[in-house]
Amino acid sequence: MRTYYIAGNWKMHMTIPEARSLAKELAGELKGCRHKIMIAPPFTALAAVAEICKKSGILLGAQNMCTEESGAHTGEISVLMLKDLGVDVVILGHSERRHVYGEKDSDINKKVLLALKHGLDVILCVGETLEEREAGKALEISRNQLISGLAGVSEKAMKSVTIAYEPVWAIGTGKTATPEDANEVHADIRACLKDLYSESLAASVTIQYGGSVKPSNARGLMEMEHLDGALVGGASLKAETFVPIALFDA
Ligand code: PEP
Repeated sequence: MRTYYIAGNWKMHMTIPEARSLAKELAGELKGCRHKIMIAPPFTALAAVAEICKKSGILLGAQNMCTEESGAHTGEISVLMLKDLGVDVVILGHSERRHVYGEKDSDINKKVLLALKHGLDVILCVGETLEEREAGKALEISRNQLISGLAGVSEKAMKSVTIAYEPVWAIGTGKTATPEDANEVHADIRACLKDLYSESLAASVTIQYGGSVKPSNARGLMEMEHLDGALVGGASLKAETFVPIALFDA
């Protein structure tokens, strides 16, 4: 039985006081929430939010990390630094990292392996662009990103991995995949996990959907067989929109 997992990606928003205030509001309003919850503030606010997360049971997420543990990598943040701050989870392969900052599948795979080596949980994002969807390649692109991202990850280590299917054309655009379209890709991701690992592993992996999730569409998406949660961007920036998504009733 998979647990619903709702994660908020705050992207490059929130000063430290704003982040602290939102985290406190969420901690209060999500007390007793039955689903697994994570928030990923910007790096600068991780320390300020860490204690609030720890006390409330909300997981603390980072939005990215470096491919290397340490060294001459000006401006980068290492897995060891995230561990220092009490980070539990790192989002890797987000489409903005892939398509705006040119991250390659091989970079993402290095990060996945490094995060798992150091005991961080991983949310690995995959998903196709509009052009790729229109060319009938939605399943192929997600499969390829999944296979490359998970290269060298053992079945045992997969306990710490969540997959987020995020069609690029639905992120921050207000366009959501229909529940049926999303479920088709999620089912294919699960089939791919079965090919890569085993039927039982595939059945146990949480697959989140991301792309303009909001209170009005969360329930319809979550009702689909293979959708186990959401990675939420815009709607995670306010308690009034994130809380109803996090508290949806399955
Ligand atoms: C995201 O950034 O992962 C995301 C899904 O954003 P939004 O919810 O704003 O589409």
